[in-house]
Amino acid sequence: MRIKKPHLRPIVITLSVGGILLTSIFLIAVIMVFQRENIEKDLLYANSSYAMKMSDVMSGYIEMAQGELAYGAKKIKSTNDIDSLKDEADRLRLQSGMFNSVLVVSNDAVVLATSPESLDLVGTRLNSSASKLAIEEKKPFISSPLKSVTGNLIILLSHPIYDKGGNYIGYVGGSIYLKKHSLFGDVLSRHFFKNNTEISIVSDDGNVIFNNDKSAVDRPMVMSDDLKSKLTASDRGEGAFFSSGHRYLLGYASMKNTVWNVLVYSRADSVTTILIAYAKSVLVLLIIIIIVFSLISYFIASSISLPLEKLAISTNAKDIGASLVYIKAINAWYAEADRLKKALFTYIKVMMERVDSLNEVALKDPLTGVNNRLGFLSKIQNHKRDSGYSVIVIDVDFFKEINDSFGHGVGDEVLVSLAHIINSCCRSEDVVCRFGGEEFVVFLPNTSVVTAKCVAERIRSVIESTVFPNNLRVTISAGVATQDDPLGRIDFLLKNADDALYQAKREGRNKVIVYSAI
Ligand code: GH3
Ligand code: MG
Ligand code: MG
Repeated sequence: MRIKKPHLRPIVITLSVGGILLTSIFLIAVIMVFQRENIEKDLLYANSSYAMKMSDVMSGYIEMAQGELAYGAKKIKSTNDIDSLKDEADRLRLQSGMFNSVLVVSNDAVVLATSPESLDLVGTRLNSSASKLAIEEKKPFISSPLKSVTGNLIILLSHPIYDKGGNYIGYVGGSIYLKKHSLFGDVLSRHFFKNNTEISIVSDDGNVIFNNDKSAVDRPMVMSDDLKSKLTASDRGEGAFFSSGHRYLLGYASMKNTVWNVLVYSRADSVTTILIAYAKSVLVLLIIIIIVFSLISYFIASSISLPLEKLAISTNAKDIGASLVYIKAINAWYAEADRLKKALFTYIKVMMERVDSLNEVALKDPLTGVNNRLGFLSKIQNHKRDSGYSVIVIDVDFFKEINDSFGHGVGDEVLVSLAHIINSCCRSEDVVCRFGGEEFVVFLPNTSVVTAKCVAERIRSVIESTVFPNNLRVTISAGVATQDDPLGRIDFLLKNADDALYQAKREGRNKVIVYSAI
């Protein structure tokens, strides 16, 4: 079975595309491994930077809220005027919107005024530890998360009230809801940071104070002891923790004047997402590169194979001359093809010359150098369609006697001389041939019978008057025939001339006879 050989174009395209693919897959794999670490570092750094920023923002919020309370507390000089206490509570709650509720509490922990009034707490004694601490400390105070009398989870900010005499008469407290809507929560959660990133406020002991997911508030955050001690030890840092089977990359920063920390964290899986997105964009680029390279490879492979294909086709040409012209015109633009082209050209040329010389040998009579019978027939092909050609058939008289008397060698010399004389009596377009033995034929194109007879007569007369080696004298007899009909066959003409020749022999030799049909 013959195996079909592959073509150059698909080989080159497959190799180049395959090479690019393998290299790219290798590069992507390398990038995936090395970039992961960098991306994790970047993410940790970004998270801790954002935690710093948010800790500044939220610390500022708390400071502003404390300033509001301080201002309100300063305005209150006595706890007797309940209406003005109520007005101040309303102003503090409504003016900035920083607090969900505001209370004015006496130094014996009895609520004197609230905003909103609907809390329905006026006259109630507050027993919470936060309230007790606020009264005991008699200075600005921020509580840990606590359950209010109304049942809300809050943090309480308070500021002491002193009368004109400088006596402590109670405190103004502002609450921020942790599980319900608050401005504090809004500021924290409406951040414009990356998707898939969460933000929480967590106390140093690991309790969640704020989280978008309200169910997580007031619960311990799942983190290692190591991370917990980091939170208390440093103002800013990074770390990782596991929660619900996921690894998180965390950045934190502690808030001023509190024991709270802002935590910004994102799932480590997002690094994989980033890497996949990265790989996808590399893949798109890769596809574009592959398409471009396939086209380039196709173009290069075509340019390489084209001269080779043309060289192969050139050998199919029937005419060797035409194939040489065809080869010469092939644009062999690279060295190897050019060498092949030159080699093929030279080879065909040498072969052509060899065939020509072999033809020459095959068509010539080796003794006399004139055409042999084959050469004669091949040369007269071109004239066969001409009208008015003639032939002269010549036979040496008594040649046998020359051979017998002087030997075959002398006979040969005479034949050579005769061929020379016949040739010299003819035109270049006439075809002289040794038909066999001591018989010659001359083909005269475009020659009338009269001219042909003259030529035959000239040959006869020159030979008659020539002295050959060994003082030999030789005569010839000749028959002339003319063909007027272009469709007439040459062998009939030769036969006619032959008949005339024999007539010349019969009539005593050394004679020229023109064939006559009658
Ligand atoms: P005629 O006048 O009737 O033609 O007599 P002739 O002797 O020429 O004719 P014949 O046919 O009897 O003899 C031809 C001779 O030519 C016979 C042969 O030996 C000789 N011959 C043929 N070929 C060659 C050749 O190549 N060289 C030599 N030396 N002789 C040849
Ligand atoms: Mg003869
Ligand atoms: Mg003879």
